[in-house]
Amino acid sequence: MASTDGDELEAVKTYFNTEGFNRWQKIYGETDEVNKVQLDIRQGHAQTVEKVLGWLDAEGGLAGTSVADAGCGTGSLAIPLALRGAAVSASDISAAMAGEAQKRYEAAVAAGAAAPATPPKFEAMDLESVTGKYHTVTCLDVMIHYPQDKADAMIGHLASLAEQRLIISFAPKTPYYSVLKRIGELFPGPSKATRAYLHAEADVEASLQAAGFKVVKREMTATKFYFSRLLEAVRA
Ligand code: SAM
Repeated sequence: MASTDGDELEAVKTYFNTEGFNRWQKIYGETDEVNKVQLDIRQGHAQTVEKVLGWLDAEGGLAGTSVADAGCGTGSLAIPLALRGAAVSASDISAAMAGEAQKRYEAAVAAGAAAPATPPKFEAMDLESVTGKYHTVTCLDVMIHYPQDKADAMIGHLASLAEQRLIISFAPKTPYYSVLKRIGELFPGPSKATRAYLHAEADVEASLQAAGFKVVKREMTATKFYFSRLLEAVRA
């Protein structure tokens, strides 16, 4: 595995442009070319997305507001947000993932979904390079690629982009999940090309607080192979 941060970022980028792209675009798709583990992860991840959409809908919706979705993957969250009328700027370190998100958006509109006034943008960009100000910033299941000492700066950067709200999810570091991870039951699949990092909720919350945000909502999704802690934070 890579020994420097730059190498590690490059390894994540390469993985999600090659075998990781093949694996994850299937997991985040609808076809039945998935095994049982991948199906379980697909279902768990779909629950996380539904929870975010549920929160946002309950808070009055995002029509007309700007959203940055950092590490957008194949657009599982960015596309429904755009179709709800948000002006979405979505980006991913992997050009393959961002390109797939663009295709899926176009397919949704071709299939009859009403196109929003401002079409979403999908760009290949690492999240540290995202600039601008957005009403809401979302970043789902990306922190797993960041060691704790890099997660603080990552959260600080995302917070600096968010005018009002930051929604972020991560694999929580609990004794139970730490043991599972050690014995290799988590993150199954043929490729172990990238490292996976768990994060203590207290550390994530401390980073959010240091960036001027307070956590107002929490959720947890856990299936057999997928687990994700979801936080919504607003400017304190
Ligand atoms: N957020 C999407 C979702 O929930 O559907 C995708 C989650 S997927 C597990 C992780 C994504 O993070 C991959 O698409 C990967 O390319 C992207 N990623 C990893 N490190 C990144 C970084 N430093 N900047 C931007 N994207 C990154």
